[in-house]
Amino acid sequence: MDLGLNGKRALVSGSTLGIGRAIAETLAAEGASVIVNGRDEDRVSQAVRDIAGDVAGCTADLSTAEGAAALAEFATRDGPIDILVNNAGMFTVNEFFDIEDADWQAMFDLNVMSAVRLSRSLMPAMLERGWGRVLFIGSDQSSKPNPSMAHYAMTKTALVSIARSLAERTRETGVTVNTLQVAPTWTDGVDAFMQQMAEIEGTTPEEMSKGYFAEGEGRTSLLQRWARPEEIAAVAAFLCSPQSSAINGSAPRADGGMVRSLF
Ligand code: NAD
Repeated sequence: MDLGLNGKRALVSGSTLGIGRAIAETLAAEGASVIVNGRDEDRVSQAVRDIAGDVAGCTADLSTAEGAAALAEFATRDGPIDILVNNAGMFTVNEFFDIEDADWQAMFDLNVMSAVRLSRSLMPAMLERGWGRVLFIGSDQSSKPNPSMAHYAMTKTALVSIARSLAERTRETGVTVNTLQVAPTWTDGVDAFMQQMAEIEGTTPEEMSKGYFAEGEGRTSLLQRWARPEEIAAVAAFLCSPQSSAINGSAPRADGGMVRSLF
């Protein structure tokens, strides 16, 4: 299937590594011009060099209003953005009673406010021109919070609500706004996280990973393994394409069957 992404201008937030990187690669391979973003200048330059296609990079910390404004300005310097993927996000595990105010705030600032700020800056031009795609990167935790990640899960559910509110602004246009509920996926972020947890628990990342699917939160997964970033990127690229025009205001799942729910 030709996704019809040739010539579209896309911005993927937090895209030097992991799922965002895979989405940027897939969109570029499908012919879109892609802007990648991260906090580290060297990693951004490396991603621009490594990803085949028409790729530009912008270093900006999206946990701040200034960072989001700088990225939006960079992204529109040669014209409006057609596709915005709100991917940047962080995740940590912590017992509810140990999560400090500052941790809640930091999670909200990056995971929610970066998406709010970029959508607020870039979506009006999509509405004016009558076509666009805004895709929020949610999680199986958008539907089913892991009680050890309450502050993270809260942000992923918030995205579904924000996306639906924004979708209401798209009536009778070719703009869509959706949230992709993403499966546990083996990324650089998860790898670092597993190493850290294994050290704390006195075990290996492999054992931690096995336990996650055998008796942990991953036990309801029908995939019974970590998804690969490319598997998620394939669904994301479809949702960013003209081919997905009938999907709007929705939260489709590429969750490996984690969420035991019919709808
Ligand atoms: P990752 O840690 O591997 O990569 C995160 C990317 O975001 C990197 O490119 C990093 O540079 C960038 N980033 C982080 N903080 C930033 C900031 N302050 N400003 C700008 N860029 C920043 O993460 P991942 O696992 O690929 O996750 C990406 C998204 O997918 C997140 O929103 C996450 O919540 C979501 N998600 C991940 C999983 C999973 O299992 N990996 C599951 C469901 C949802």
